[in-house]
Amino acid sequence: MTSPYLSLVAPAYNEQDNIALFHERATKALKGVTDDYEIVFVNDGSTDGTLETLIKLQGTDPKVAVVDLSRNYGKEIALTAGLDFARGQGVIPIDVDLQDPPELIPRLVEMWEKGFQVVNARRRSRQGETFLKKWTASLFYRFMQNLGGRVTVPPSVGDFRLIDRKALEAIKSFREHHRFMKGIFASVGFNQAFVEYDREPRQAGKTSFNYWRLWNFSLEGITSFSTLPLRVFTYVGLLISLISFTYGFYILLKALFLGDPVAGFPTLFVSITFIGSVQLIGLGIIGEYLGRIFNETKRRPLYFVNSLYGGLGDNADTAQNISLALDDHQELQRA
Ligand code: UDP
Ligand code: MG
Repeated sequence: MTSPYLSLVAPAYNEQDNIALFHERATKALKGVTDDYEIVFVNDGSTDGTLETLIKLQGTDPKVAVVDLSRNYGKEIALTAGLDFARGQGVIPIDVDLQDPPELIPRLVEMWEKGFQVVNARRRSRQGETFLKKWTASLFYRFMQNLGGRVTVPPSVGDFRLIDRKALEAIKSFREHHRFMKGIFASVGFNQAFVEYDREPRQAGKTSFNYWRLWNFSLEGITSFSTLPLRVFTYVGLLISLISFTYGFYILLKALFLGDPVAGFPTLFVSITFIGSVQLIGLGIIGEYLGRIFNETKRRPLYFVNSLYGGLGDNADTAQNISLALDDHQELQRA
């Protein structure tokens, strides 16, 4: 199996206007480091001319390879597919919209060559993003920090990083469906380093992450790495029962000593609706976890590949097996 020195892994969903410039800047940056590289694009079920553009590009540049997925799976899974197929000794996930500047690659490689197994690119600033997006993002990272687990997701680090083969193999062994890649990247450990950069605005097209999707994305992050929300409800229950016990005792004494004229409708109304809604929230949280358990137990393949372009044949066996049968993958791992 030939393995290039570096692999770039770029998931693309409706990015036809970004590909040419991305390819140009990435190639320039890579050439400054080595001639031994590949660029693996993953077409994540784009509905525009992304696939055609990529195939044409592959025809002119043999360093380009394309994984065409059978439909749109979302960024986390598209990236996973790319990581499965990438053959490099060092692998760099990167966005096609040029928000992750390819010019940073030499600095990532420099740290990697110093012996770090994961070199994270950390955003110093985010240009072209609204105040609300920055604020919600920082709130989310702060929340993730305080979840109390052993895994801390570093703030301001996206998917852009350089991963050494050894760490990558560890990452590849995570086959869960509810994938929160930033968490998975962080959770494998290894020797990590950080390099800072300024995040640029999107080059063309528009982001596919609106606030509702970001909220759902945060839910994935929280539920895949923490059971704290479940535990919180034990304490909420304890607190409420303590309060209601005290209040009940007070009402009892009052009725004994002062009699019990019919009153208290507001108290009754408030307490019933309050308890009812707290219970519903608790059930909802259990539901979030239950739904995920349901999805994971089905053990469906993560993705299907429609076709491959470029020299990915070497890994096709491995990756296709991974996508087609989890058991096979575990066999492969044991072997
Ligand atoms: N992407 C993908 N599948 C999707 C959505 C996005 O492969 O369903 C890719 C997209 O082409 C880009 C990267 O993921 O290369 C980041 O997407 P986007 O720029 O929309 O996200 P943001 O930068 O706003 O977080
Ligand atoms: Mg983007």
